[in-house]
Amino acid sequence: MKKHNFYAGPSILPQVTIEETAKAVINFAGTGLSIMEISHRSKEVIAVMDETVALFKELLNIPEGYKVLFLGGGASTQFLMVPYNLLNGKAAYLVTGGWASKAAKEAKNFGEVIEIASSKDKNYNYIPRGWKVPSDVDYLHITTNNTLYGTEIREDFDVNVPLVADMSSDIFSRPVDISKYALIYGGAQKNLAPAGITFVIVREDMLGKLNRHIPTMMDYRTHIEADSMFNTPPVLPLFAALQTLKWLKANGGLKAMEKVNLEKAKLLYDEIERNKLFKCTIPDPKDRSIMNICFVMNDNYKDLEDAFMDFAKSKGMIGIKGHRSTGGFRASTYNALPKESVQALVDCMKEFEQIKS
Ligand SMILES: *Cc1c(COP(=O)(O)O)cnc(C)c1O
Repeated sequence: MKKHNFYAGPSILPQVTIEETAKAVINFAGTGLSIMEISHRSKEVIAVMDETVALFKELLNIPEGYKVLFLGGGASTQFLMVPYNLLNGKAAYLVTGGWASKAAKEAKNFGEVIEIASSKDKNYNYIPRGWKVPSDVDYLHITTNNTLYGTEIREDFDVNVPLVADMSSDIFSRPVDISKYALIYGGAQKNLAPAGITFVIVREDMLGKLNRHIPTMMDYRTHIEADSMFNTPPVLPLFAALQTLKWLKANGGLKAMEKVNLEKAKLLYDEIERNKLFKCTIPDPKDRSIMNICFVMNDNYKDLEDAFMDFAKSKGMIGIKGHRSTGGFRASTYNALPKESVQALVDCMKEFEQIKS
């Protein structure tokens, strides 16, 4: 039976990424060696790094003055690298979920953290609006897509201070105006590559402005100087990321991605609204993520949760269990998830409704 992969992360990748990476595991770039056993200083791996950086810049339309880095450590290491490099006195955090809250917690080790707004009062089911950023903070940190709760900021904010964004789970899902950001980071395992590699886009003039001693590995300038080869980068995930970027380009780039992502999200949200058994956990449609779609059983049908889970499994749906903090279901609809998979889930919800009424 066909499997429909709705995992939140690590998550579905384009089939071509998996196939090309599998080939490179056996014989990489005609070297007769596996990508797992070749020096990262070889000309073949350096070419992969250069091409990945170039395509990253091209697809996201990254202006002059920014550097693109590929590091280890995951997005969680960026929670501390960001304040290590940028936080002098005070920083502002918009707390829209579990990851945002973890990022703010790390920053507290480096300076004063001002939570300008939080949606914790309603289990993070909305994006706070109408907040103001104090003009004397070093930066504002936001999490554009809240993977656990299913809310998303799909606009590039205009703010009066440098803007830093965790885009782990929605990078490449839409065109982004990079010039509005001072720094963007993310783990690649949601929309780009297998786990193990982290991307950082940083405006170079943000760096070198504070007096703190920064340990070598934590200093962005170390990795800029070494073209992300100060230490051994995660070579295989880097190769896989390049295959995904090529796939993105071949499929029309980010405008085309956004169009399909909006269609997929509409298909599923419309069914959640229509189907009497289910309801969406995010009340305001403009806050709803197009990457992680969260829903629960409707009030009169709560006892059907396990039954629907089993039914969905029997139809090939994988990874739709909601995060433990929200319960219910979460369908992640990343770039690589085909529309047919969303349609299959919708059909499954319709069929279940018919059986139960
Ligand atoms: C998954 C995720 C993280 C954590 O990423 P790691 O690479 O596992 O550290 C951080 N932020 C967001 C928004 C995420 O979705």
